[in-house]
Amino acid sequence: MREKPILPGATIGVLGSGQLGRMFAIAARRMGYRVHTFSPDFDTPTGQVSDLEIAASYDDLDAVRQFARGVDVVTFEFENVPAPTAAAAAEAAPVRPAGSALHTTQHRLREKTFLTAAGLPVTPYAPVYNVDELKAALKIQGYPAILKSADFGYDGKGQCLIDSPESIEAAWVAVGPSPAVLESFVDFEREVSVVAARGVDGSFVHYGVIENDHRNRILDVSLAPARISAKTAGDAVEMARTVLTKLEITGVLCVEFFVARDGSLLINELAPRPHNSGHLTVDACVTSQFEQQLRAVCGLPLGSTELLCPAAMANLLGDLWDQGEPDWAAACASPAVKLHLYGKLSARPGRKMGHLTALGKNVEETVREARISLAGCVGSANENRTRI
Ligand code: AMP
Repeated sequence: MREKPILPGATIGVLGSGQLGRMFAIAARRMGYRVHTFSPDFDTPTGQVSDLEIAASYDDLDAVRQFARGVDVVTFEFENVPAPTAAAAAEAAPVRPAGSALHTTQHRLREKTFLTAAGLPVTPYAPVYNVDELKAALKIQGYPAILKSADFGYDGKGQCLIDSPESIEAAWVAVGPSPAVLESFVDFEREVSVVAARGVDGSFVHYGVIENDHRNRILDVSLAPARISAKTAGDAVEMARTVLTKLEITGVLCVEFFVARDGSLLINELAPRPHNSGHLTVDACVTSQFEQQLRAVCGLPLGSTELLCPAAMANLLGDLWDQGEPDWAAACASPAVKLHLYGKLSARPGRKMGHLTALGKNVEETVREARISLAGCVGSANENRTRI
């Protein structure tokens, strides 16, 4: 039986309150939905644009149940929502994607086990539970290698490069003592991602392949379409389809890949939600990844993912504030560049504060525009950090 869609006028609950929730809430409110957000914080990027902001701990399951009773569907904007929180919410409202998908993807070992069982290629790795196992794994895998904590990692956090036996103990202190994964260091040609969505009825759409350039293990610039062969792009999309289907995702999921020099692909990680690399879809696609998430979790037909023109997105990290408030007028100097700021109240190095998207006729031109605008922001227009 076809499920009834959740229509405009209904209320969407968002667990988490960062920029992904903010852009989701903006898309939802534009389509006439109400948005309630739940996180431990107050005056958050999502809360600022929501109808209701609840500040409570994710472990306060009574508060979670009460929150879920007040909405028609619950979704989340980051994958580290604890499993009992998702389960408590599910007692009162549908949770999309389901908590089981969260459970798999919020832990690197579970995620890699799932991917391997699905026949998908992952970076060579070994599970590591103590320093002796780490030493044994390094003997087999060799140097350099990257030690990653199995849970709660993102943007290179909880990770340590090991390039010699001398750095083993320090790496274990930095990343352990929780379970960890030792990955071989991949000498990739480039990094790419596929942002895709699956509807309540199993329908599947994707945004093609997006190319990603990281700096200090944090995404710096994304561009679309990716500069890779049609064969590699097709393979990446088919792998993404397998992931969304096998995880039975309702919503948006991003698959991040390393592309080897021979064009072959390794999956680095999964994010069961809209993704930083998909931010360019807001300005460059018929349907943004956030509207797509909304359509999917509400059981609406999925929207067109067509890329209307080449685009490049550059992240605005907190480091930009080192010399005072960035020069936003300079950032907007090019008429083909769009400015997005997330309303975060304080800037810290590495913190994602906003992004710029440049649109153009070819992808090289958009990357150039985005980088010029980014460089133009540096240097203060105002002395003091003000609220954005
Ligand atoms: P992650 O948080 O695992 O996505 O890692 C952040 C970034 O660190 C990736 O996007 C890569 O640029 C880099 N990185 C992570 N794992 C590896 C690896 N096994 N080999 C080479 N670079 C990596």
